[in-house]
Amino acid sequence: MPIDPTQSYDDQNIFAKILRGEIPSRTVFENEHALAFHDIAPQAPYHVLVIPKGAYVSWDDFSARAEDAEIAGFVRAVGEVARAAGLVEPGYRLLANVGHDGHQEVPHLHVHIFAGRALGPMLA
Ligand code: IMP
Repeated sequence: MPIDPTQSYDDQNIFAKILRGEIPSRTVFENEHALAFHDIAPQAPYHVLVIPKGAYVSWDDFSARAEDAEIAGFVRAVGEVARAAGLVEPGYRLLANVGHDGHQEVPHLHVHIFAGRALGPMLA
């Protein structure tokens, strides 16, 4: 079910539990700003989620409230994950779903990284 985009941060969401180490994840990257781990239900041969360490519901919440250093650190982390995985050539796709119409299901900001095959044109 898509989340309510206006909800306040729920620290019991599944990615908050992953950040606290309460449930396991297949981690591929971690620094002070971000954690990256394999999606549990991959939709491409490579499907990793990158999440900020801070408590942000969505891209909207993050871009409105986060400090510039957190934003820069998170954006750099997404790039670092992709580079470290050797994705720059032949390429990859980033996706952040926001709110109901974006079909965001987990209420902690996450950027999907898809790669490993030709992904085709964007879906509108
Ligand atoms: P959304 O629709 O953008 O919110 O995507 C949520 C993503 O989280 C989906 O691709 C799920 O497969 C993924 N997911 C849900 N629970 C877990 C988990 O426990 N570990 C890793 N990925 C998860």
